[in-house]
Amino acid sequence: MNIHEYQAKEIFRAEGIPVPPGEVATTPEEAEAIARKFGGTVVVKAQVHAGGRGKAGGVKLAKTPEEAREAARHILALTIKDLPVRKVLVTPAAEIATESYVGVIVDRSSKRAVFMVSPAGGIDIEDVAAKTPEKILRHPVDPRYGLQLYEAMQLAFFLYTDLKQVRAAARIMQQLYAAFVASGGSLAEINPLVTTPEGEVIALDAKMVVDDNELDRRPAIAALRDESSEAPSEVEARKANLTFIKLDGNVGCVVNGAGLAMATMDLVKYYGGEPANFLDIGGSSNPEKVVSALRIITADPSVKAILFNIFGGITRTDDVANGIVTATKVNPLKVPIVIRLTGTNEEIAVKILQENGYTAVTDMDEAVKKAVALATGEKAA
Ligand code: GDP
Ligand code: MN
Repeated sequence: MNIHEYQAKEIFRAEGIPVPPGEVATTPEEAEAIARKFGGTVVVKAQVHAGGRGKAGGVKLAKTPEEAREAARHILALTIKDLPVRKVLVTPAAEIATESYVGVIVDRSSKRAVFMVSPAGGIDIEDVAAKTPEKILRHPVDPRYGLQLYEAMQLAFFLYTDLKQVRAAARIMQQLYAAFVASGGSLAEINPLVTTPEGEVIALDAKMVVDDNELDRRPAIAALRDESSEAPSEVEARKANLTFIKLDGNVGCVVNGAGLAMATMDLVKYYGGEPANFLDIGGSSNPEKVVSALRIITADPSVKAILFNIFGGITRTDDVANGIVTATKVNPLKVPIVIRLTGTNEEIAVKILQENGYTAVTDMDEAVKKAVALATGEKAA
């Protein structure tokens, strides 16, 4: 789960990390009032679950309250990476001497939380990693001991030479690690961690991603979810208990089981197509899930063909067939559909589909080839 910068800053602040004050506005007038209260130059920042807000025009300096109002008006009208901006953070502007990067992520290969720090902060860290990897220092953390002071100092010396700043940055890293662990984070990031001309070290930006599996035992963190800022398809999928990830292709996939869903995506690519999504309806036999799945997939204008790939075990294929019939009666399909099903109650499923004008195939290769051909507009082989 993504949380907003202002929420991550609250978590960081509670751990003691120096973070500039700030307040959230949903209208230009509110932003103006907050700017007036702070006085002086402020920064107006889009609160949206996407990186690179600066480049997208979502971070603006404003010298007066009126400028803050106009900046907020502009930013609140933006859509950044398909996500509408509904809130802005208004925060007093800091003077910047240097910008560094400090982040901690869960690294699957080392099975540890790994710190990454770089003196080349502010811009895209992915860019730094690709072009000048020597500017990034990585350090895995032993979960039994946490980030020890000597380790934090070592990381901080990679950023600064001034001992006061090194100490400040080391403390911030230990606090960041504490926030990351306490919140069930899969990523916690400060980019940029800045020094001011007076030599202070402060976290100017904050980003945190929380592992969904950690939410059940952390109701206070779970309550930070902002559905108005999430992709509508992902919100609906979560409510329907579907595992759904939007991708860039045009073959909409509805599959039961994560392994089969991966295999289906592989095969779509093998036959020259591109999947529009990963969607696992899971092992249940609920036709409602199929209805939700179809609603989510057909709402995506880039989907040019739909592929059902169902291997009936616990999942009853007749339930899936009923789901398809119900869903398409309410919402007739505008794109072709290819249905492959095999397993539990297959004969009943085929009969239900035939009675409603659908054909089903049992061969996975055949189904995938056909769906790819339909999506690319070629004649099916
Ligand atoms: P991001 O682009 O979404 O990562 O948003 P950031 O909060 O990191 O802001 C992007 C850039 O805007 C920073 O790297 C800074 O260069 C600049 N910026 C943000 N806040 C301030 C501020 O308080 N003062 C100044 N001078 N620049 C800022
Ligand atoms: Mn940033």
